[in-house]
Amino acid sequence: MAARHQGTLNRPNPLPREVAPGIFWLGECLEQRQQGKIYHGCNACFLIVGGTASMLVETGHPKDFPIIEGQLNTLLPGKPPLKYLFVTHQETPHCGGLGRVLSRYPEAILCGDVSDYHLAFPHYEHRMRMMKEGDEIDLGGRGFRAVEPVVRDMRTTWWGFETRDRVLFPGDGFAYSHYHEDGHCGLVAEEAASLDLQDTTAVFADLALWWTKWADMRNYCARLDRLMETLDVKTVCPTHGLVITDVARTMPKVKEGLLYGSSVAERGTNDASFGKKPEPAAAK
Ligand SMILES: [Zn+2]
Ligand SMILES: [Zn+2]
Repeated sequence: MAARHQGTLNRPNPLPREVAPGIFWLGECLEQRQQGKIYHGCNACFLIVGGTASMLVETGHPKDFPIIEGQLNTLLPGKPPLKYLFVTHQETPHCGGLGRVLSRYPEAILCGDVSDYHLAFPHYEHRMRMMKEGDEIDLGGRGFRAVEPVVRDMRTTWWGFETRDRVLFPGDGFAYSHYHEDGHCGLVAEEAASLDLQDTTAVFADLALWWTKWADMRNYCARLDRLMETLDVKTVCPTHGLVITDVARTMPKVKEGLLYGSSVAERGTNDASFGKKPEPAAAK
């Protein structure tokens, strides 16, 4: 049997990992079965440690919260308290742990597009701060700004940008799987030598970003280039892809992946029926 998902603590490159000064990659992988293969997608979150405040970007998948809480418990002692939680959009792998983050860290303010969260968590309404493009939060010596979400999953999406070390947090942008069996978990994109960004971006186009099949992704690639250039991005911390530490080297492959993922026919959704007979089509 193929090597299966072992959890972040038992693998060669455990998280958390510092990917830029004072910026830590946390979270866990999610197994994806596709085309008879086992892929992994990250469900990452990131801790930014400023001079006066720390910020969590995304909450990770709800199933991973005990792991993420453990990672935060190893990182936060002796550092400025967790005062902010930024989520890119209202989808489970991005914000599904926010109730637990707000309850565990009573100083934390939820920020981003916070529409509707008060309906789920009315008792935390006073701890929600709406952000729009250009709004910035001071973390002490470094800032966190809401920026244009070029590849968005929802109309309420914002991407984030850390201003001192020039780190982009693009949520569902830069979404691609990795190969667990090749030991990619916890590696940055440039270390994962066998990572095929065309193949793995196409997996995400099938599983989540279906609209990219119907859009001219050349326009999105041009817009992405402009954003990367304007912000002078040095590091990219995607929620589902591996962290990118060499933008000039990896960006062309990411764009090839977006174009390829949108050009090929859908390859089927998450293959839960692995090894089983397909269900007969429903009668009309
Ligand atoms: Zn997502
Ligand atoms: Zn993995």
